[in-house]
Amino acid sequence: MGTAADQAEQFPPHKIIGNIYYVGVKTLATYLIVTPAGNILIDTTYEKNVPTIAKSVDQLGFKFTDTKIILGNHAHGDHMEGDALAKQMTGAQVMAMAEDIPALAHIRPGGKVHPIDRVFVDGDTVSLGGVTLTAHLTPGHTHGCTTWTTTASENGQTYNVVFGCSLRAGNFVSADVAKGFDKSFAIVRTFPCDVLLGDHGSEFDLLGKYPKLKPGAPNPYIDKATCTREADMEEAMYHAIMAEQAAAKP
Ligand SMILES: [Zn+2]
Repeated sequence: MGTAADQAEQFPPHKIIGNIYYVGVKTLATYLIVTPAGNILIDTTYEKNVPTIAKSVDQLGFKFTDTKIILGNHAHGDHMEGDALAKQMTGAQVMAMAEDIPALAHIRPGGKVHPIDRVFVDGDTVSLGGVTLTAHLTPGHTHGCTTWTTTASENGQTYNVVFGCSLRAGNFVSADVAKGFDKSFAIVRTFPCDVLLGDHGSEFDLLGKYPKLKPGAPNPYIDKATCTREADMEEAMYHAIMAEQAAAKP
């Protein structure tokens, strides 16, 4: 997703809402959740991007070395390859969904073993400094694709924030993977949502929303109306792929 340059170019680090910040590159999202007990990082992306992410965190006035917990959306290199290096640089604990652990074991940049300090099952929560995130298993794109939900406060109001996992189907969908997608497309619609974020900026129109972020203007990321837009689009694609597969059967 995005050109090679877009996958490495620093995007302006900025506050999304409350204690949640964007610290990723142009097309691969990384989030920083700031708490009084240290910070949570979601999606280290490619290993080569970790120094850029660290720079973004520092430019916001926080310290990358205050990262205590590293989470991810799914076990693909463009989202979680940097976990080992980020752990080396911060001492943070790396945590991931059980169903993604086998795939993570294959992500070994420079021969580094992918670290795992805690394994989640569907519905587990992780808390730090008064912030709690819930891990929802939303399989399909990977077996352990994880949608994270939490809340954030702004101007005295509390908002539901969803860090969606990719719902994009591959060119061939096995029966096992289809079972995952069928479940995931239903459950992602049940999450309370005011702010949809995702593992790629395109899933929530980062490039369109960021320029609208202005003092005094409504926060463009608070956008209930488009909370299911990505799911609707990917589900239509998924059904098209399944129909094609069924038609191709002898
Ligand atoms: Zn992926």
